[in-house]
Amino acid sequence: MDRQFENDKLRERAAALELQAGEDSLTGIPNRRAFDHAFEALAHRRAVVGILDIDYFKQVNDEHSHLVGDAVLVRVAALLNGFDPRMSAFRIGGEEFGLVFVDLALEHAQPIGQRIVDSVRAMTFTDLADGLSVTVSIGLAQTGILQGSALLAEADRRLYVAKKLGRDRVIADGRSSIAVAAE
Ligand code: GH3
Ligand code: MG
Ligand code: MG
Repeated sequence: MDRQFENDKLRERAAALELQAGEDSLTGIPNRRAFDHAFEALAHRRAVVGILDIDYFKQVNDEHSHLVGDAVLVRVAALLNGFDPRMSAFRIGGEEFGLVFVDLALEHAQPIGQRIVDSVRAMTFTDLADGLSVTVSIGLAQTGILQGSALLAEADRRLYVAKKLGRDRVIADGRSSIAVAAE
């Protein structure tokens, strides 16, 4: 068998195993699949879900390098993993992380989200690249009227509002969505 083909097959197998194992290979934290499981388990429980997205991440890659971008992802993931015992963090996409708070009300998850935003802003990244700083935006929503995909969509809409309002913030309030939508 052609060596390149063999390598490709091995890499594919490794990726499939990784997905099955529920761990993201770059950052070592739980992956999208693990998030989906955690999210499904929330049905009929009081909980908050969040979506965190790194601000202007494309610029980090473009102005520095993909390697620097990867190092930023690893560092942000390490901060999120174990940030607070009431929260679980997952890498659900390129520079997006899912947050799950089980048995917690929005009013208690919101300050944790704010602490994350403040902590990332205060982190040092200049050892990776001169002048590099990083911020994140978060959208949070709680179970209740909204469940399942509608709940995730609402968290995503609030993340969008956080971006629109200038990034580097957490939005946990449905009314701000209306304000931006009406713009
Ligand atoms: P915004 O503030 O609106 O979120 O802007 P953004 O630049 O963060 O958003 P955008 O979605 O345009 O860029 C996401 C970038 O993330 C694009 C993609 O190349 C990069 N990316 C996705 N996965 C990885 C990865 O594993 N490593 C690195 N280094 N970059 C990645
Ligand atoms: Mg994104
Ligand atoms: Mg982004």
